Amino acid sequence: MNLIEVMERFPDQESCIEHLERIRWGNKPVCLHCGCVEVKEKKEDGVGRVGRYHCSACKASFKVTCGTVFHGTKIPLQKWFLAISLILNAKKSLSSCQLARDLDLNQKTAWYIQTRIRAEMANKTNPIVLQGIIEADETYIGGKPRKENKKEDRKPAKRGRGTSKTAVIGAVERGGQVVAEVAKGLTGRDIMQFIRRVVNVKESELMTDEYHAYNALSGQLKHHVINHQEQYVDGDKHTNTIEGFWSLLKRAWYGQHHHYSVGYTPLYVAERCYVYNNRNLETIFWKFLNGSMKV
Ligand SMILES: [Zn+2]
Repeated sequence: MNLIEVMERFPDQESCIEHLERIRWGNKPVCLHCGCVEVKEKKEDGVGRVGRYHCSACKASFKVTCGTVFHGTKIPLQKWFLAISLILNAKKSLSSCQLARDLDLNQKTAWYIQTRIRAEMANKTNPIVLQGIIEADETYIGGKPRKENKKEDRKPAKRGRGTSKTAVIGAVERGGQVVAEVAKGLTGRDIMQFIRRVVNVKESELMTDEYHAYNALSGQLKHHVINHQEQYVDGDKHTNTIEGFWSLLKRAWYGQHHHYSVGYTPLYVAERCYVYNNRNLETIFWKFLNGSMKV
């Protein structure tokens, strides 16, 4: 769904509410507090449909958005839908400043919407198990762009090990999905636990660089080490896929997100994984909305 399609399909608040109601309830609204179907919609004059219902059994009131990513929002749902479309279509992620300009919101509001959508992506991702040829690697993001770093941040630590940036570990199945997350640590044990959780080790081969912590895995699955001091590609032995993912992740971060706290790195990583893993799915917009109504 591009922006034009979203605008055509959802021209107003009412069409958005109706769509969400159909996903969540089908034809008949159900009380979100007690499950009763004896509910009545409360009409509010002069403002169009608000979609607030009253339950005659438990006397509570509710809307279709209760408990969802849209809970309690005063921002028109159409803007939310447009934001979802923009975020899903952005190859290199979108800054909240850009989102604010695109949707005529202030930057804080855009940032709030973006953070909620990211959290939704993180929550609605089912555990993924990779299988086949797997490339694993780690990287560091966060902090300011490299050129602005203080000298001590830049020194040795070839790939950022030992800096104050956030360590991210990832594994990608060639031609398939990626799993990446903020790493608690990067010892052999940490890496082994991560790989055993996200990879079917019995049916997979692992490609990594020469970082010694990966050696902990060597007894558990077929493991090819590409020594980057010597060469980057040896036939089909390389880690180019995961490095391609890192470069997408980092370019967007340094280009657009460097003024935000590293505390949000996990959500940012989750967004990039979600978009990457659904890159070939044309119905991703609808999948996101459907998922958002599963509470
Ligand atoms: Zn009720």
